[in-house]
Amino acid sequence: MKEYDYLIVGAGLYGCVFAYEARKNGKKCLIIDKRDHSGGNVYCENVDGINVHKYGAHIFHTNDKDIWDFVNQFVEFNRYTNSPLARYKDELYNLPFNMNTFYKLWKTATPQEAMDKIDEQVKALNITDPKNLEEQALSLVGTDIYEKLIKGYTEKQWGRKATELPAFIIKRLPVRFTYDNNYFKDKYQGIPVGGYNKLIDGLTEGIDIQLNVDFFEERSKWTAKAETVVFTGKLDEYFDCSHGRLDYRSLRFEHEKLDIENFQGNAVVNYTEADVPYTRIIEHKHFEFGTQASTIITREYPEEGGADKEPYYPVNDEKNTARYNEYKKLATLEKNVIFGGRLAEYRYYDMHQVIGSALATTKKIFAVC
Ligand code: FAD
Ligand code: UDP
Repeated sequence: MKEYDYLIVGAGLYGCVFAYEARKNGKKCLIIDKRDHSGGNVYCENVDGINVHKYGAHIFHTNDKDIWDFVNQFVEFNRYTNSPLARYKDELYNLPFNMNTFYKLWKTATPQEAMDKIDEQVKALNITDPKNLEEQALSLVGTDIYEKLIKGYTEKQWGRKATELPAFIIKRLPVRFTYDNNYFKDKYQGIPVGGYNKLIDGLTEGIDIQLNVDFFEERSKWTAKAETVVFTGKLDEYFDCSHGRLDYRSLRFEHEKLDIENFQGNAVVNYTEADVPYTRIIEHKHFEFGTQASTIITREYPEEGGADKEPYYPVNDEKNTARYNEYKKLATLEKNVIFGGRLAEYRYYDMHQVIGSALATTKKIFAVC
């Protein structure tokens, strides 16, 4: 009989949701994380009363009422609606691409006028079967929007030409013919009142957590502690990178405190031209309608990933997908290990999808108990 039923590697959302459900089902869990805090990438640091999203802007959104009810058990959500702006040189546009964006670009006042303008540009390109992000974007919104609002941002963000990127990345962004600046299509949206740490604290109440611990430094010691391991770190590292490294895009966050009340009047401003080295500036207080005397902003600089960099975005291109499939085969042969989350599943998951994935797994395991 081992000390724990589950050793959970990674105190991110996947690990914490898994631990919560396991505990609810009478199981004993230990969570370890190599960082000095729990929460993974949703972690916030409170500075002068402002919750600073340490790993980039996190806006919770979902269409799934069960997931919404699940998170609302732990924390209340505010009415924040993400409406980012895109700055291209001295011009400001509304995102996602909607009637406000089209009006600013072309002075098209009705949906039909905007559709005609896009159609005219798309027809001239003659793309029948979009094979990459560039072709997909051009055939959705035409040349003007692609050149001003997509190409520069995308190529900075991913460090690759838009012609070398998978089309699905751009399909995340809605295109609408209404005057609606809500970035997401989902029914439920908001920011936890008091920050994401409240959600994480609620999920992990009564669960043992050890921080500053890298699983790989004493792998057999940690594995021996539990009947089953739940691994939410990088899948390639679990298998000693035997099929080569999976690529990630990384980010560098530059935080700055300013002694002014309001820097940009909005939580998120994207910088879409290629020459500005960062992709966006976040002003954290606006996520919670803060009225503090000072403000904190974060510039987000994309970087190439690597062994010593934080892995933020999986690069789901052909090479990496093939490599991931090799690791997935190894993972299915591994006994008493569950792989889950953005890193172990190598998927561009949003928070609600990670929660959904953890709940689906725990439902399968504990339904038969
Ligand atoms: P993570 O949060 O990455 O947690 C994994 C944990 O495992 C980490 O804490 C890590 O330290 C730990 N770990 C890894 N290896 C080891 C090891 N060897 N030993 C010990 N510990 C280890 N989603 C949204 O829904 N809305 C948004 O607006 C949004 N914005 C985002 C912005 C950015 C910049 C990024 C990068 C992501 C964003 N997301 C957003 C996605 C969201 O962050 C993820 O879906 C979610 O946090 C993933 O949870 P996870 O548990 O899978 O992974
Ligand atoms: N994107 C863009 N211009 C923008 C915002 C996004 O071209 O102003 C593209 C870019 O390729 C990005 C993708 O749309 O990777 C998805 O954007 P999203 O905001 O969902 O990215 P995330 O928040 O996950 O970084």
